[in-house]
Amino acid sequence: MKIEKVDLFLTSMKLVQPFRTHQETVTDRESILIKVTDDTGHSGWGEVVAFSSPWYTEETIETAWHMLTEFFIPTILEQEWTSPREVNETLLHWKRNHMAKAGIEMAIWDLFAKRAGISLSEYIGGVLKEVKAGVVVSMDSPERMLNTIENRINEGYERIKVKIDPANDYQMLKVIRDSYPDIALLVDANSAYSLKDAERLKKLDSLNLLMIEQPLAADDIVEHAELQRGLLTPVCLDESIVSLQDARNAVKLGSCKVISIKIGRVGGLANAIDIHDLCAEHEIPVWCGGMLETGISRAFHIALATLPNFTIPGDLSASSRYWEKDVIIPEVVVEDGKVKVPEGPGIGFKVDEPFVEQITKRKATYHSK
Ligand code: MG
Repeated sequence: MKIEKVDLFLTSMKLVQPFRTHQETVTDRESILIKVTDDTGHSGWGEVVAFSSPWYTEETIETAWHMLTEFFIPTILEQEWTSPREVNETLLHWKRNHMAKAGIEMAIWDLFAKRAGISLSEYIGGVLKEVKAGVVVSMDSPERMLNTIENRINEGYERIKVKIDPANDYQMLKVIRDSYPDIALLVDANSAYSLKDAERLKKLDSLNLLMIEQPLAADDIVEHAELQRGLLTPVCLDESIVSLQDARNAVKLGSCKVISIKIGRVGGLANAIDIHDLCAEHEIPVWCGGMLETGISRAFHIALATLPNFTIPGDLSASSRYWEKDVIIPEVVVEDGKVKVPEGPGIGFKVDEPFVEQITKRKATYHSK
């Protein structure tokens, strides 16, 4: 199969609510949406989930645009493809730039599943027909956070995640735990702590947290192992796991008891599946993180979360949690804490192209020669 055309859309959408962590507040979300079209007229969609600034990983929307237009797309347009797995292998000689690579790779996975006439979930060997949804509650005053949590629980979410840092941890979490003794509560530190804070983090053991996500540095695997040895609360690695090799190292060292998988962060769906398989072998449960993404990347995460070792509810919230209007039809909805896995071919959602055009700030089209 040959790709005949690649369309890039640099889009901007306003979040329903600004998203705050200790590192960044995101109000307007830029993305690069990618459409690939083959020689039979089938098309597939992908999404680059890098942020406008490099606060989460080193990539930005502009670095991704550069990598795609200068390196990845010319290569993609030259080759014959027999499997979407080949994309990752082909782009491997260029270092990192995982979110840019994942964006174009996703589009080709969607295309292959559509050509096969089956859902992406089925195409990758998924087993679940619905996936459990969790939600992230942004940092705020304790009253407002309790209020938001109440609303989310009423909407059916089974797992609540809150962001923490040394200025907002035990006290804030105790207020939440006292009000909701039984909810599945997990905390994400986005690297706000160092090993010197081990005692402080140990105090969180009394709160019966589902896990503490990425307490230490984004590039650390060794100190997390030391921290995990002293904690009852399972450590989950997010930013630290950007490749299968990182996951292997973390498993070997005992750096975590859980891994969060995000397709963009690990450089694509092939890597995400391989990390899932490795973790399954070692009885490490995994779950799907979210990236404040549009419905396109979310659709990929829904399909990914149908693999059997995704046993913890992911950040797979409804479109309406983030956007006035999403780029897919129908939007992602959560009912009784679950998202139904679409059965249509590929990602199973239609991309609302007129709407994509409306929110596009920059567009580029590339054709095969
Ligand atoms: Mg995280």
